[in-house]
Amino acid sequence: MSSDKKIPYKIYLNESEIPKQWYNVRADMKNKPAPLINPGTHEPMGFDDLRPVFCDELIKQELDNDTAFFDIPQEIQDFYKMYRPSPLVRAYCLEKALDTPAKIYYKFEGNNTSGSHKLNSAIVQAYYAKQQGLKGLTTETGAGQWGTALSMACAYLGLDLKVFMVKVSYEQKPFRREVMRTYGASVTPSPSMETEIGKKINAEHPGTTGSLGCAISEAVEVATTNEGYRYVLGSVLNQVLLHQSVIGLETKAALDKYGIVPDMIIGCAGGGSNLGGLISPFMGEKLRGEKDYRIIAVEPASCPSFTRGVYAYDFCDTGMVCPLAKMYTLGSNFIPSANHAGGLRYHGMSPILSQLYADGYMEAVSVEQTSVFAAAEQFARTEGILPAPESSHAIRAAIDEAMKCKETGEEKTIVFGLTGTGYFDLVAYQKYNDGEMTDLIPTDEDLKKSIDALPKV
Ligand SMILES: *Cc1c(COP(=O)(O)O)cnc(C)c1O
Repeated sequence: MSSDKKIPYKIYLNESEIPKQWYNVRADMKNKPAPLINPGTHEPMGFDDLRPVFCDELIKQELDNDTAFFDIPQEIQDFYKMYRPSPLVRAYCLEKALDTPAKIYYKFEGNNTSGSHKLNSAIVQAYYAKQQGLKGLTTETGAGQWGTALSMACAYLGLDLKVFMVKVSYEQKPFRREVMRTYGASVTPSPSMETEIGKKINAEHPGTTGSLGCAISEAVEVATTNEGYRYVLGSVLNQVLLHQSVIGLETKAALDKYGIVPDMIIGCAGGGSNLGGLISPFMGEKLRGEKDYRIIAVEPASCPSFTRGVYAYDFCDTGMVCPLAKMYTLGSNFIPSANHAGGLRYHGMSPILSQLYADGYMEAVSVEQTSVFAAAEQFARTEGILPAPESSHAIRAAIDEAMKCKETGEEKTIVFGLTGTGYFDLVAYQKYNDGEMTDLIPTDEDLKKSIDALPKV
Protein backbone atom coordinates (compact mmCIF):
# COMPACT_ATOMS: atom_id res chain seq x y z
CA MET A 1 0.00 0.00 0.00
CA SER A 2 1.45 3.36 -0.98
CA SER A 3 2.07 5.92 1.74
CA ASP A 4 -0.60 8.50 2.34
CA LYS A 5 1.63 11.41 1.44
CA LYS A 6 1.78 10.39 -2.18
CA ILE A 7 -1.96 10.59 -2.64
CA PRO A 8 -2.87 13.97 -4.16
CA TYR A 9 -5.89 16.02 -3.15
CA LYS A 10 -7.41 15.30 -6.52
CA ILE A 11 -6.83 12.12 -8.46
CA TYR A 12 -7.40 12.91 -12.11
CA LEU A 13 -7.31 10.37 -14.87
CA ASN A 14 -5.95 11.32 -18.28
CA GLU A 15 -8.40 12.04 -21.04
CA SER A 16 -7.34 8.78 -22.65
CA GLU A 17 -8.37 6.90 -19.50
CA ILE A 18 -12.05 7.86 -19.75
CA PRO A 19 -13.85 4.51 -20.10
CA LYS A 20 -14.53 3.40 -23.68
CA GLN A 21 -17.18 0.92 -22.60
CA TRP A 22 -20.00 0.98 -20.08
CA TYR A 23 -20.32 -1.94 -17.68
CA ASN A 24 -23.65 -3.73 -17.29
CA VAL A 25 -23.78 -5.15 -13.76
CA ARG A 26 -26.81 -7.29 -14.69
CA ALA A 27 -24.42 -9.60 -16.56
CA ASP A 28 -22.93 -10.67 -13.21
CA MET A 29 -26.20 -10.90 -11.27
CA LYS A 30 -27.44 -14.43 -10.63
CA ASN A 31 -30.91 -13.13 -9.87
CA LYS A 32 -31.67 -10.72 -12.70
CA PRO A 33 -33.85 -7.67 -12.06
CA ALA A 34 -37.52 -8.40 -12.77
CA PRO A 35 -38.73 -7.29 -16.23
CA LEU A 36 -41.02 -4.34 -16.86
CA ILE A 37 -44.55 -5.64 -17.36
CA ASN A 38 -47.59 -4.41 -19.23
CA PRO A 39 -50.07 -2.90 -16.75
CA GLY A 40 -53.02 -4.44 -18.62
CA THR A 41 -51.86 -7.97 -19.45
CA HIS A 42 -49.06 -8.36 -16.85
CA GLU A 43 -46.90 -9.83 -19.64
CA PRO A 44 -43.22 -8.79 -19.77
CA MET A 45 -42.71 -5.81 -22.09
CA GLY A 46 -40.65 -6.77 -25.14
CA PHE A 47 -38.86 -4.68 -27.75
CA ASP A 48 -41.99 -4.00 -29.83
CA ASP A 49 -44.10 -3.03 -26.80
CA LEU A 50 -41.61 -0.36 -25.79
CA ARG A 51 -40.96 1.09 -29.27
CA PRO A 52 -43.71 3.74 -29.27
CA VAL A 53 -42.22 5.30 -26.13
CA PHE A 54 -38.44 4.75 -26.15
CA CYS A 55 -35.64 4.85 -28.77
CA ASP A 56 -34.74 1.48 -30.30
CA GLU A 57 -31.10 1.29 -29.21
CA LEU A 58 -32.01 2.27 -25.67
CA ILE A 59 -34.66 -0.46 -25.52
CA LYS A 60 -31.99 -3.01 -26.49
CA GLN A 61 -29.85 -1.79 -23.60
CA GLU A 62 -32.85 -1.83 -21.28
CA LEU A 63 -33.66 -5.46 -22.03
CA ASP A 64 -30.10 -6.85 -22.14
CA ASN A 65 -29.31 -8.73 -18.92
CA ASP A 66 -26.31 -10.59 -20.31
CA THR A 67 -23.87 -8.37 -22.22
CA ALA A 68 -21.27 -7.19 -19.71
CA PHE A 69 -19.75 -4.36 -21.74
CA PHE A 70 -21.25 -1.91 -24.25
CA ASP A 71 -19.00 0.25 -26.46
CA ILE A 72 -19.41 3.97 -25.86
CA PRO A 73 -19.87 5.56 -29.32
CA GLN A 74 -17.02 7.88 -30.32
CA GLU A 75 -19.26 10.97 -30.42
CA ILE A 76 -20.31 10.36 -26.80
CA GLN A 77 -16.69 9.78 -25.78
CA ASP A 78 -15.89 13.16 -27.34
CA PHE A 79 -18.74 14.84 -25.46
CA TYR A 80 -17.62 13.22 -22.19
CA LYS A 81 -14.20 14.85 -22.74
CA MET A 82 -15.78 18.29 -22.31
CA TYR A 83 -16.34 17.62 -18.59
CA ARG A 84 -14.80 14.24 -17.81
CA PRO A 85 -12.89 12.61 -16.29
CA SER A 86 -14.36 13.97 -13.08
CA PRO A 87 -11.99 14.21 -10.13
CA LEU A 88 -11.81 11.77 -7.25
CA VAL A 89 -11.00 14.03 -4.32
CA ARG A 90 -9.37 13.10 -1.02
CA ALA A 91 -11.30 15.03 1.62
CA TYR A 92 -8.23 15.87 3.67
CA CYS A 93 -9.79 19.04 5.12
CA LEU A 94 -12.98 17.28 6.17
CA GLU A 95 -10.99 14.43 7.72
CA LYS A 96 -9.00 16.95 9.72
CA ALA A 97 -12.11 18.77 10.91
CA LEU A 98 -13.64 15.46 12.00
CA ASP A 99 -10.36 14.34 13.57
CA THR A 100 -11.01 10.87 12.19
CA PRO A 101 -8.53 8.15 11.22
CA ALA A 102 -10.86 7.30 8.30
CA LYS A 103 -9.75 8.18 4.79
CA ILE A 104 -12.52 9.86 2.86
CA TYR A 105 -12.75 10.23 -0.92
CA TYR A 106 -15.52 11.68 -3.03
CA LYS A 107 -16.20 11.45 -6.74
CA PHE A 108 -17.38 14.90 -7.81
CA GLU A 109 -19.93 14.97 -10.63
CA GLY A 110 -20.94 18.64 -10.32
CA ASN A 111 -18.30 20.03 -12.68
CA ASN A 112 -20.59 20.77 -15.60
CA THR A 113 -23.18 23.48 -16.16
CA SER A 114 -26.11 21.18 -15.46
CA GLY A 115 -24.49 20.71 -12.06
CA SER A 116 -25.04 16.97 -11.68
CA HIS A 117 -24.23 13.46 -12.92
CA LYS A 118 -27.41 13.44 -15.02
CA LEU A 119 -25.54 14.70 -18.10
CA ASN A 120 -23.76 11.29 -18.33
CA SER A 121 -27.02 9.66 -19.43
CA ALA A 122 -28.72 12.68 -21.05
CA ILE A 123 -26.12 12.83 -23.81
CA VAL A 124 -26.47 9.12 -24.49
CA GLN A 125 -30.23 9.16 -24.73
CA ALA A 126 -30.15 12.21 -27.02
CA TYR A 127 -27.43 10.61 -29.16
CA TYR A 128 -29.44 7.46 -29.87
CA ALA A 129 -32.54 9.53 -30.64
CA LYS A 130 -30.53 11.49 -33.17
CA GLN A 131 -29.10 8.26 -34.66
CA GLN A 132 -32.64 7.02 -35.12
CA GLY A 133 -33.48 10.15 -37.10
CA LEU A 134 -35.96 11.49 -34.56
CA LYS A 135 -36.91 15.17 -34.38
CA GLY A 136 -37.03 15.57 -30.68
CA LEU A 137 -37.59 14.33 -27.15
CA THR A 138 -39.98 14.93 -24.31
CA THR A 139 -39.34 14.56 -20.62
CA GLU A 140 -40.40 15.69 -17.18
CA THR A 141 -38.32 17.43 -14.58
CA GLY A 142 -38.97 18.05 -10.92
CA ALA A 143 -36.14 19.95 -9.31
CA GLY A 144 -34.75 20.68 -12.78
CA GLN A 145 -31.38 18.89 -12.92
CA TRP A 146 -32.51 16.29 -15.42
CA GLY A 147 -34.25 18.85 -17.63
CA THR A 148 -31.14 21.02 -17.61
CA ALA A 149 -28.83 18.13 -18.49
CA LEU A 150 -31.09 16.98 -21.30
CA SER A 151 -31.46 20.48 -22.72
CA MET A 152 -27.65 20.75 -22.90
CA ALA A 153 -27.46 17.39 -24.69
CA CYS A 154 -30.24 18.27 -27.14
CA ALA A 155 -28.65 21.64 -27.92
CA TYR A 156 -25.37 19.87 -28.69
CA LEU A 157 -27.05 17.44 -31.08
CA GLY A 158 -29.63 19.79 -32.60
CA LEU A 159 -32.72 18.01 -31.24
CA ASP A 160 -35.96 19.65 -30.16
CA LEU A 161 -36.84 19.20 -26.48
CA LYS A 162 -40.11 19.67 -24.61
CA VAL A 163 -39.78 19.65 -20.84
CA PHE A 164 -42.77 19.35 -18.52
CA MET A 165 -41.68 20.92 -15.27
CA VAL A 166 -43.67 20.33 -12.09
CA LYS A 167 -45.59 23.60 -11.66
CA VAL A 168 -44.42 24.29 -8.13
CA SER A 169 -40.76 24.02 -9.24
CA TYR A 170 -41.46 26.06 -12.37
CA GLU A 171 -42.62 28.88 -10.16
CA GLN A 172 -40.09 28.44 -7.34
CA LYS A 173 -37.02 27.82 -9.49
CA PRO A 174 -37.25 30.40 -12.28
CA PHE A 175 -33.48 30.32 -12.78
CA ARG A 176 -33.39 26.61 -13.57
CA ARG A 177 -36.13 27.24 -16.11
CA GLU A 178 -34.10 30.00 -17.78
CA VAL A 179 -31.04 27.77 -18.06
CA MET A 180 -33.14 25.20 -19.93
CA ARG A 181 -34.64 27.87 -22.20
CA THR A 182 -31.19 29.27 -22.92
CA TYR A 183 -30.19 25.82 -24.19
CA GLY A 184 -33.25 25.92 -26.45
CA ALA A 185 -35.74 23.68 -24.63
CA SER A 186 -39.39 24.64 -24.31
CA VAL A 187 -40.46 24.43 -20.68
CA THR A 188 -44.12 23.97 -19.78
CA PRO A 189 -45.47 24.02 -16.24
CA SER A 190 -47.29 20.77 -15.45
CA PRO A 191 -50.18 20.09 -15.32
CA SER A 192 -50.68 22.12 -18.50
CA MET A 193 -53.61 22.66 -20.83
CA GLU A 194 -51.55 21.26 -23.75
CA THR A 195 -52.31 17.58 -23.14
CA GLU A 196 -55.46 15.56 -22.54
CA ILE A 197 -54.15 14.23 -19.24
CA GLY A 198 -53.10 17.74 -18.18
CA LYS A 199 -56.56 19.14 -18.93
CA LYS A 200 -58.15 16.29 -17.02
CA ILE A 201 -55.95 16.78 -13.97
CA ASN A 202 -56.51 20.55 -14.03
CA ALA A 203 -60.27 20.00 -14.19
CA GLU A 204 -60.25 17.47 -11.34
CA HIS A 205 -57.80 19.38 -9.13
CA PRO A 206 -58.15 23.11 -9.86
CA GLY A 207 -55.10 25.06 -8.73
CA THR A 208 -52.90 21.98 -8.31
CA THR A 209 -49.16 22.64 -8.28
CA GLY A 210 -48.45 19.33 -9.98
CA SER A 211 -46.32 16.29 -9.28
CA LEU A 212 -43.58 14.33 -11.00
CA GLY A 213 -46.04 11.56 -11.82
CA CYS A 214 -48.35 13.96 -13.61
CA ALA A 215 -45.48 15.54 -15.57
CA ILE A 216 -44.34 12.07 -16.69
CA SER A 217 -47.84 11.30 -17.96
CA GLU A 218 -47.91 14.56 -19.96
CA ALA A 219 -44.45 13.99 -21.45
CA VAL A 220 -45.34 10.42 -22.47
CA GLU A 221 -48.57 11.62 -24.07
CA VAL A 222 -46.76 14.24 -26.17
CA ALA A 223 -44.09 11.73 -27.23
CA THR A 224 -46.59 9.09 -28.31
CA THR A 225 -48.92 11.49 -30.16
CA ASN A 226 -46.26 13.45 -32.10
CA GLU A 227 -44.43 11.79 -34.94
CA GLY A 228 -40.66 11.77 -34.57
CA TYR A 229 -40.70 12.19 -30.80
CA ARG A 230 -39.79 9.81 -27.99
CA TYR A 231 -39.86 10.04 -24.22
CA VAL A 232 -36.73 9.80 -22.07
CA LEU A 233 -36.28 9.26 -18.33
CA GLY A 234 -33.28 10.33 -16.26
CA SER A 235 -33.13 7.63 -13.58
CA VAL A 236 -34.56 4.27 -12.41
CA LEU A 237 -34.23 2.45 -15.75
CA ASN A 238 -31.55 -0.21 -16.39
CA GLN A 239 -30.18 1.79 -19.36
CA VAL A 240 -29.59 4.84 -17.15
CA LEU A 241 -27.59 2.81 -14.64
CA LEU A 242 -25.58 1.41 -17.56
CA HIS A 243 -24.66 4.93 -18.75
CA GLN A 244 -23.86 6.05 -15.22
CA SER A 245 -21.37 3.17 -14.83
CA VAL A 246 -18.87 5.67 -16.24
CA ILE A 247 -18.77 7.18 -12.71
CA GLY A 248 -17.83 3.90 -11.05
CA LEU A 249 -15.38 2.82 -13.76
CA GLU A 250 -13.49 6.12 -13.45
CA THR A 251 -13.55 5.88 -9.65
CA LYS A 252 -12.14 2.37 -9.72
CA ALA A 253 -9.43 3.33 -12.22
CA ALA A 254 -8.39 6.29 -10.04
CA LEU A 255 -8.27 4.17 -6.88
CA ASP A 256 -6.35 1.41 -8.64
CA LYS A 257 -3.71 3.94 -9.73
CA TYR A 258 -2.74 4.43 -6.10
CA GLY A 259 -3.50 0.93 -4.86
CA ILE A 260 -6.40 2.18 -2.74
CA VAL A 261 -9.05 -0.38 -1.77
CA PRO A 262 -12.23 1.11 -0.31
CA ASP A 263 -13.95 -0.51 2.66
CA MET A 264 -17.27 1.15 1.92
CA ILE A 265 -18.96 2.96 -0.93
CA ILE A 266 -21.76 5.36 -0.17
CA GLY A 267 -24.24 7.19 -2.40
CA CYS A 268 -27.56 8.97 -2.21
CA ALA A 269 -30.48 7.14 -3.78
CA GLY A 270 -33.45 8.77 -5.47
CA GLY A 271 -34.19 6.53 -8.43
CA GLY A 272 -30.81 4.89 -7.95
CA SER A 273 -28.87 5.98 -11.04
CA ASN A 274 -25.82 7.67 -9.53
CA LEU A 275 -25.45 5.01 -6.84
CA GLY A 276 -25.97 2.22 -9.34
CA GLY A 277 -23.34 3.75 -11.60
CA LEU A 278 -20.83 4.44 -8.83
CA ILE A 279 -20.97 0.96 -7.35
CA SER A 280 -21.25 -1.04 -10.56
CA PRO A 281 -17.64 -2.26 -11.01
CA PHE A 282 -17.27 -2.83 -7.26
CA MET A 283 -20.58 -4.69 -7.14
CA GLY A 284 -19.38 -6.74 -10.11
CA GLU A 285 -16.36 -7.89 -8.08
CA LYS A 286 -18.60 -8.64 -5.14
CA LEU A 287 -21.05 -10.63 -7.26
CA ARG A 288 -18.21 -12.63 -8.81
CA GLY A 289 -16.88 -13.37 -5.34
CA GLU A 290 -13.57 -11.56 -5.96
CA LYS A 291 -13.79 -8.83 -3.33
CA ASP A 292 -16.10 -7.58 -0.63
CA TYR A 293 -17.20 -4.03 0.07
CA ARG A 294 -19.90 -2.45 2.22
CA ILE A 295 -22.24 -0.62 -0.10
CA ILE A 296 -24.64 1.88 1.45
CA ALA A 297 -27.62 3.64 -0.13
CA VAL A 298 -28.71 6.83 1.63
CA GLU A 299 -32.26 8.04 1.28
CA PRO A 300 -34.34 10.81 2.86
CA ALA A 301 -36.41 9.87 5.90
CA SER A 302 -39.29 11.66 4.15
CA CYS A 303 -39.19 9.29 1.16
CA PRO A 304 -37.72 5.99 2.44
CA SER A 305 -38.27 3.51 -0.41
CA PHE A 306 -35.60 0.99 0.64
CA THR A 307 -35.89 1.25 4.40
CA ARG A 308 -39.68 1.36 4.74
CA GLY A 309 -41.05 0.38 1.32
CA VAL A 310 -42.07 -3.01 -0.04
CA TYR A 311 -40.51 -4.99 -2.91
CA ALA A 312 -43.36 -5.27 -5.40
CA TYR A 313 -44.59 -4.41 -8.88
CA ASP A 314 -45.74 -0.80 -9.09
CA PHE A 315 -46.36 1.99 -11.56
CA CYS A 316 -43.40 4.22 -12.36
CA ASP A 317 -45.66 7.28 -12.53
CA THR A 318 -48.65 8.65 -10.66
CA GLY A 319 -50.68 8.90 -13.87
CA MET A 320 -50.38 5.08 -14.20
CA VAL A 321 -49.64 5.16 -17.93
CA CYS A 322 -46.13 3.66 -17.73
CA PRO A 323 -45.19 -0.04 -17.46
CA LEU A 324 -45.03 -1.70 -14.06
CA ALA A 325 -41.59 -2.21 -12.53
CA LYS A 326 -40.69 -4.51 -9.65
CA MET A 327 -38.91 -2.37 -7.12
CA TYR A 328 -38.79 -1.17 -3.55
CA THR A 329 -41.65 1.29 -3.52
CA LEU A 330 -43.80 3.39 -1.26
CA GLY A 331 -46.68 3.19 -3.77
CA SER A 332 -47.06 5.34 -6.87
CA ASN A 333 -49.60 7.61 -5.20
CA PHE A 334 -47.33 8.32 -2.23
CA ILE A 335 -46.61 12.05 -2.21
CA PRO A 336 -43.56 12.82 -0.11
CA SER A 337 -43.61 15.92 2.03
CA ALA A 338 -41.96 19.00 0.57
CA ASN A 339 -38.37 18.12 1.48
CA HIS A 340 -35.68 20.05 -0.33
CA ALA A 341 -33.86 17.19 -2.03
CA GLY A 342 -36.14 17.22 -5.07
CA GLY A 343 -34.07 14.58 -6.87
CA LEU A 344 -34.71 12.07 -4.09
CA ARG A 345 -38.49 12.53 -3.93
CA TYR A 346 -39.36 9.46 -5.96
CA HIS A 347 -41.65 6.71 -4.67
CA GLY A 348 -39.72 3.83 -6.26
CA MET A 349 -36.18 2.59 -6.81
CA SER A 350 -34.13 1.13 -9.66
CA PRO A 351 -35.11 -2.53 -10.29
CA ILE A 352 -31.41 -3.45 -10.43
CA LEU A 353 -30.62 -1.96 -7.03
CA SER A 354 -33.88 -3.36 -5.65
CA GLN A 355 -32.86 -6.90 -6.59
CA LEU A 356 -29.35 -6.41 -5.18
CA TYR A 357 -30.79 -5.03 -1.94
CA ALA A 358 -33.29 -7.90 -1.68
CA ASP A 359 -30.40 -10.35 -2.16
CA GLY A 360 -28.38 -8.74 0.63
CA TYR A 361 -25.60 -7.23 -1.49
CA MET A 362 -26.13 -3.72 -0.15
CA GLU A 363 -27.40 -1.79 2.87
CA ALA A 364 -29.62 1.27 3.14
CA VAL A 365 -30.02 4.04 5.71
CA SER A 366 -32.40 6.97 5.88
CA VAL A 367 -31.45 10.42 7.18
CA GLU A 368 -33.41 13.49 8.19
CA GLN A 369 -33.08 16.71 6.27
CA THR A 370 -31.88 19.01 9.05
CA SER A 371 -28.99 16.62 9.73
CA VAL A 372 -28.37 16.47 5.98
CA PHE A 373 -28.03 20.25 5.80
CA ALA A 374 -25.76 20.26 8.86
CA ALA A 375 -23.50 17.87 6.94
CA ALA A 376 -23.76 20.06 3.82
CA GLU A 377 -22.70 23.11 5.83
CA GLN A 378 -19.75 21.30 7.39
CA PHE A 379 -18.69 20.02 3.96
CA ALA A 380 -18.99 23.46 2.34
CA ARG A 381 -16.93 25.06 5.10
CA THR A 382 -14.17 22.46 4.92
CA GLU A 383 -14.02 21.23 1.33
CA GLY A 384 -15.24 24.44 -0.31
CA ILE A 385 -17.91 22.94 -2.57
CA LEU A 386 -21.54 23.96 -2.03
CA PRO A 387 -23.21 20.54 -2.34
CA ALA A 388 -26.64 19.72 -3.74
CA PRO A 389 -29.12 18.69 -1.04
CA GLU A 390 -29.39 15.27 -2.71
CA SER A 391 -25.62 14.73 -2.60
CA SER A 392 -25.56 15.89 1.01
CA HIS A 393 -27.38 12.73 2.03
CA ALA A 394 -24.25 10.80 1.06
CA ILE A 395 -22.08 13.35 2.91
CA ARG A 396 -24.18 12.79 6.06
CA ALA A 397 -23.68 9.04 5.94
CA ALA A 398 -19.95 9.35 5.11
CA ILE A 399 -19.42 11.66 8.10
CA ASP A 400 -21.38 9.29 10.35
CA GLU A 401 -19.21 6.36 9.25
CA ALA A 402 -16.03 8.42 9.70
CA MET A 403 -17.11 9.30 13.24
CA LYS A 404 -17.62 5.59 14.03
CA CYS A 405 -14.01 5.09 12.91
CA LYS A 406 -12.97 7.78 15.35
CA GLU A 407 -14.54 5.78 18.18
CA THR A 408 -12.99 2.49 17.16
CA GLY A 409 -9.70 3.90 15.85
CA GLU A 410 -10.15 2.04 12.57
CA GLU A 411 -8.55 3.55 9.46
CA LYS A 412 -11.33 2.67 7.07
CA THR A 413 -11.41 3.99 3.52
CA ILE A 414 -14.71 5.57 2.57
CA VAL A 415 -15.69 6.56 -0.97
CA PHE A 416 -18.85 8.53 -1.59
CA GLY A 417 -20.55 10.05 -4.59
CA LEU A 418 -20.87 13.84 -4.62
CA THR A 419 -23.47 14.07 -7.34
CA GLY A 420 -23.83 17.81 -7.77
CA THR A 421 -23.78 21.41 -6.66
CA GLY A 422 -26.48 23.32 -4.81
CA TYR A 423 -26.53 26.75 -6.46
CA PHE A 424 -30.17 26.40 -7.42
CA ASP A 425 -31.11 25.20 -3.95
CA LEU A 426 -30.41 28.38 -2.05
CA VAL A 427 -34.01 28.71 -0.87
CA ALA A 428 -33.43 25.45 0.99
CA TYR A 429 -30.14 26.71 2.40
CA GLN A 430 -31.90 29.93 3.42
CA LYS A 431 -34.51 27.90 5.37
CA TYR A 432 -31.71 25.99 7.07
CA ASN A 433 -29.69 29.12 7.84
CA ASP A 434 -32.79 30.82 9.27
CA GLY A 435 -33.53 27.81 11.47
CA GLU A 436 -36.83 27.21 9.72
CA MET A 437 -36.14 23.77 8.32
CA THR A 438 -38.15 20.87 9.71
CA ASP A 439 -38.04 17.09 9.38
CA LEU A 440 -41.09 15.55 7.81
CA ILE A 441 -41.33 11.83 8.28
CA PRO A 442 -44.34 9.85 7.04
CA THR A 443 -46.26 7.85 9.62
CA ASP A 444 -46.80 4.09 9.19
CA GLU A 445 -50.40 4.96 8.43
CA ASP A 446 -49.38 7.35 5.60
CA LEU A 447 -47.27 4.63 4.05
CA LYS A 448 -49.87 1.90 4.53
CA LYS A 449 -52.39 3.92 2.54
CA SER A 450 -50.26 4.11 -0.60
CA ILE A 451 -48.74 0.63 -0.20
CA ASP A 452 -52.21 -0.91 0.17
CA ALA A 453 -53.10 0.69 -3.18
CA LEU A 454 -50.31 -1.14 -5.08
CA PRO A 455 -51.52 -2.89 -8.24
CA LYS A 456 -52.35 -6.56 -7.68
CA VAL A 457 -49.91 -8.58 -9.75
C1 LIG B 1 -31.30 13.53 -9.63
C2 LIG B 1 -30.23 13.68 -8.64
C3 LIG B 1 -29.98 12.69 -7.67
C4 LIG B 1 -30.81 11.45 -7.49
O1 LIG B 1 -31.01 10.65 -8.60
P1 LIG B 1 -30.43 9.19 -8.72
O2 LIG B 1 -31.04 8.66 -9.97
O3 LIG B 1 -30.85 8.43 -7.51
O4 LIG B 1 -28.98 9.31 -8.82
C5 LIG B 1 -28.92 12.86 -6.81
N1 LIG B 1 -28.16 13.97 -6.85
C6 LIG B 1 -28.38 14.94 -7.76
C7 LIG B 1 -27.50 16.15 -7.74
C8 LIG B 1 -29.41 14.82 -8.68
O5 LIG B 1 -29.62 15.78 -9.57
